[in-house]
Amino acid sequence: MLHRFERPQTIAEAARLLASGPWAVLAGGTDLYPAHVGRKVAAPLLDITAIAGLRGIRRDDGGWAIGATTTWTDVVRADLPPLFAALKAAAREVGGVQIQNTGTVAGNVCNASPAADGTPVLLALGASVVLRSERGERELPLDEFVLGSRRTARAADELVVAVRIPARSARARSAFAKLGGRRYLTISISTVAVVVDSDGAGAIAEAGVAVGSCSAVARRLPALEARLLGAAAGTDLARLLDPADLAPLAPIDDLRGSAAYRGDATATLVRRALRDVATR
Ligand SMILES: Cc1cc2nc3c(=O)[nH]c(=O)nc-3n(C[C@H](O)[C@H](O)[C@H](O)COP(=O)(O)OP(=O)(O)OC[C@H]3O[C@@H](n4cnc5c(N)ncnc54)[C@H](O)[C@@H]3O)c2cc1C
Repeated sequence: MLHRFERPQTIAEAARLLASGPWAVLAGGTDLYPAHVGRKVAAPLLDITAIAGLRGIRRDDGGWAIGATTTWTDVVRADLPPLFAALKAAAREVGGVQIQNTGTVAGNVCNASPAADGTPVLLALGASVVLRSERGERELPLDEFVLGSRRTARAADELVVAVRIPARSARARSAFAKLGGRRYLTISISTVAVVVDSDGAGAIAEAGVAVGSCSAVARRLPALEARLLGAAAGTDLARLLDPADLAPLAPIDDLRGSAAYRGDATATLVRRALRDVATR
């Protein structure tokens, strides 16, 4: 028997359907379908790709809003300031081009995989998630939205409508480094994102550093972020990493690497990203 399938045209219609019972929200389907190989998706499908206004990246006074059906290819092609270099680099490494053409930034976050490449970048950017339901709209910082492996704070009747990135100065820069078992089409062993913004004199005034694939949820490195403040943005920032800065991480042994290897590799990736961000 065919499952129920709906493809609403508006957010209001989607919210009304979500309020009526359990649905599986479908964006690109590149996580949802592979997770159900050989079995049916238990809930009826709510395809959100026809909803007007959900696709694209918009700028407003407070920053940028990445609409929920914005794909990785949309990110690669968007005209964005240097602040988004890390997100563009991550976009180019999510699967292959076919996956980038359909997979969405919001889907990556909602799926809450510990190895999601988008999450550490968005954490370093200080992103938040905008949720809509018939009860209204709320916005949660990303670190309060992703609660654990495959676990988010989204209620069953809520739709993620956008990921918001706060505004930064035109001097803001970012860098991304990913290690997998091979160069492309690979699940990450570790991913690192660094974002720095500097004052008019070139001193770092804001810093975000986050690591993915080394804990159930991607983590920021607050001790390193604090040490970066005041440093000259154009100098070799890699020297500022203290191995103790990686304490918030809890890497595991698995098929892709041992915990010790992940720890060593992450220190190297952090230094690489810090060097990269200083030369942009
Ligand atoms: C071959 C292959 C390679 C891949 N490589 C990578 C990789 O290198 N790096 C990486 O990070 N990921 C990778 N992925 C995973 C996947 O492509 C990404 O996570 C992608 O961004 C998911 O987006 P989607 O739109 O396809 O999500 P979907 O599969 O449509 O949805 C994922 C989950 O989020 C929910 N959801 C989606 N959108 C919303 C919304 N707006 N509101 C509420 N819930 C929502 C869905 O219900 C589902 O539970 C790969 C997948 C495949 C098949």
